[in-house]
Amino acid sequence: MSTSQSWIDRGLTHVAATYGRYPLVAASGKGCWLTDIDGKKYLDFLAGVAVNNLGHCHPDIVTALQKQAETLLHCSNFYHIPQQIELAELLCENSFGDRVFFCNSGAEANEAALKLVRKYSCDNFGADRFEIIAAENSFHGRTFGTISATNQEKIRSGFAPLLPGFKFVPFGDIESIKAAITPQTCAVMLEPIQGEGGINVPPPGYLQAVRELCNQNNLLLVFDEVQVGLGRTGKLFAYQHDGVEPDVMTLAKALAAGPPIGTMVVREKYAAALGPGTHGSTFGGNPLLAAAGVAAMKVYLNSNVLENSVAMGDYLREKLEELRQKYSFITQIRGRGLMIGMELSIEGGEIVKTALEQGLLINCTAGKVLRFVPPLIVTQAEIDQMIDILDTILAQSGTETN
Ligand SMILES: *Cc1c(COP(=O)(O)O)cnc(C)c1O
Repeated sequence: MSTSQSWIDRGLTHVAATYGRYPLVAASGKGCWLTDIDGKKYLDFLAGVAVNNLGHCHPDIVTALQKQAETLLHCSNFYHIPQQIELAELLCENSFGDRVFFCNSGAEANEAALKLVRKYSCDNFGADRFEIIAAENSFHGRTFGTISATNQEKIRSGFAPLLPGFKFVPFGDIESIKAAITPQTCAVMLEPIQGEGGINVPPPGYLQAVRELCNQNNLLLVFDEVQVGLGRTGKLFAYQHDGVEPDVMTLAKALAAGPPIGTMVVREKYAAALGPGTHGSTFGGNPLLAAAGVAAMKVYLNSNVLENSVAMGDYLREKLEELRQKYSFITQIRGRGLMIGMELSIEGGEIVKTALEQGLLINCTAGKVLRFVPPLIVTQAEIDQMIDILDTILAQSGTETN
């Protein structure tokens, strides 16, 4: 029996079965490559779901963690934490934001945002103004608050009653937001590009029109950049493509390029709503994780990873377009930078499984959309290699469906 199989058997016995896991037992990683416990190498175009934006074990992240681990692992948020302050400064200097709340995940960052918009509205307009407009096919996390903001049946089913006060509108349709606004509305919450919903890019001008609507109606605009932020789309933050700024932005996944950290970035005007005692997190922005966040931010800001995200994103889309010309069951290639979806007219699950056997990690969202979110340091040669593997698999998938 392989070493993998015994770990898989043990994993299936005692780890909660909340994921349908693939038969890969992770051992180590370097750059765009993940190695399993039997020594097999995989080209990683999933990157821990858009977390490992700097590749596996980027030396700056590793060094920052090692140094900080020897100095101070954790310290209460009752005290000032230099690494956290530095990370907050880097985030504010490079975004619309003035203040940063630290937590540990995307869902927690969105929880903070939901609490902030309600508290601000309650303080300024009264307790009756609490409704939040969110989009169909959104994904904001797995806590009660965030599944209430996520209108996918498979995510909500069985957990009722959820948090009241959410309205859903089709993503990309400005008229439906207009129609959904009532005197009870306090905020609009959107992903600038939907991730889990199938890599959905809104039509040009949509986010600007949403911003204007929010201004006219005194609504806070929340952008969930948990997946699209930190260079994924070729800019540090996805909103920078559209010439609009939100009032609140949430980040997590790639913020420390591996270690778990989440943040809510907010304008000063609104930040005051969360004063002492209104919200908190024991681990949020602790020295170890914040040190990794500072190291990652410095790489995003001072290296060529954002340019590489643009250039390699263009190259990857071009190569995927060539495959679309070749296979009639590929209906569309879409995305921005290195956040790319390939929509199929067939189910994508089998392709993902075969890819794994062939040494390629990708995944499938919304049933029929293959998702490509490699590390932003990916090279042209690695993209070529990925395309070769995918081409071979698609050639077989085509014959099966014809
Ligand atoms: C992954 C994701 C989340 C949830 O992040 P967790 O760290 O898993 O809680 C929220 N919003 C978006 C857009 C995401 O992609």
